[in-house]
Amino acid sequence: MTDRILDFLAERRRNGRDNGPCLVVDLDVVRENYVGFAKALPDTRVFYAVKANPAPEVLSLLASLGSCFDTASVVEIEQVLAAGATPDRISFGNTIKKERDVARAYALGVRLFAVDCEAEVEKIARVAPGSKVFCRILCDGSGAEWPLSRKFGCVPEMATGVLEHAHRLGLNAYGVSFHVGSQQTNPRMWDAALKSASEIFRELAERGINLQMVNLGGGFPTKYLKNVPAVKQYGNAIFRALSKHFGNRIPETIIEPGRGMVGNAGLIEAEVVLISKKSEEDSEIRWVYLDIGKFNGLAETTDEMIRYPIRTPADGAPTSPCVVAGPSCDSVDVLYEKQPYQLPISLEIGAKVLIEGTGAYTTTYSAVGFNGFPPLETHVI
Ligand code: PLP
Repeated sequence: MTDRILDFLAERRRNGRDNGPCLVVDLDVVRENYVGFAKALPDTRVFYAVKANPAPEVLSLLASLGSCFDTASVVEIEQVLAAGATPDRISFGNTIKKERDVARAYALGVRLFAVDCEAEVEKIARVAPGSKVFCRILCDGSGAEWPLSRKFGCVPEMATGVLEHAHRLGLNAYGVSFHVGSQQTNPRMWDAALKSASEIFRELAERGINLQMVNLGGGFPTKYLKNVPAVKQYGNAIFRALSKHFGNRIPETIIEPGRGMVGNAGLIEAEVVLISKKSEEDSEIRWVYLDIGKFNGLAETTDEMIRYPIRTPADGAPTSPCVVAGPSCDSVDVLYEKQPYQLPISLEIGAKVLIEGTGAYTTTYSAVGFNGFPPLETHVI
């Protein structure tokens, strides 16, 4: 949380505009994060994962700093182009695309696509001839607080066939990608995935197909309640793994940071709507209902995977365990219950609380109008 954000929120309160939850994103922090990635992984190109936070100001800043972009849909491609990036800096990184969306991306100038099966390769060959494709492989996501396994990628043994198929259909079989799981707290998790990637490179080279690129994905963490290793440690671990598995023939590499680029740049101010108990027993846990929940920004509390730091005006006072819940009429809209949250006993209805580390995966998960609650108000400063 930066002074700039706190000043902005104080001004909003003074002007009586604090009617609902509000996310404020500080571009200075995004800039620092971009520079941090560029320093920690100096030979790697950064493709910012737009899904984490597609605010036009964030995209324009990153475009001006020289970032490339990982996109998941035609809308995201259009957002990146509107922010001033050229199409050669865009990857269509979703492995699940409609053929007409591939055609639209191609018409917009995009020439880099993710695949994880032959059917997807065939779509690209039909409507985006000659494009570069990289094959996403499954990898072990343990150590990640928000795993991305199973749904995307094929087993490494299948990737050679997928890329060979692409080559046969006139596409540029360009490389391999993986994602070690989001909020990956173990920098060594890239090692096994890079071993698999290097084996695919070798096997295809034997068949006369020379891959060029490894997409190291996202996974770089932001700080929530627990400390996480610094980005430099990720850079060192990745460089060691690349050297170990590729020797002196290290391929071109890219990273796709989302959370690590914008997570700590955002702060949400929310309000305590109600504090209650489910019985008259004094020992009973309190329920603290906020005006923000799973459907207006905090979807990543699903299964309590992401635990955001919550600051209150009563911090420092004695605490007791609380269930923290959102405001909507859906009973799944409970943020923390399995592991109750310690909040000050003197916390009052109407208090403003600050939820840290909320720059990533909040606005994009905020539903329009569920129960009449508006999408998350957002300001980029
Ligand atoms: N790249 C791809 C293909 C993704 O699906 C994601 C997240 O879903 C990211 C990058 C960003 O991951 P993270 O936010 O963990 O950096």
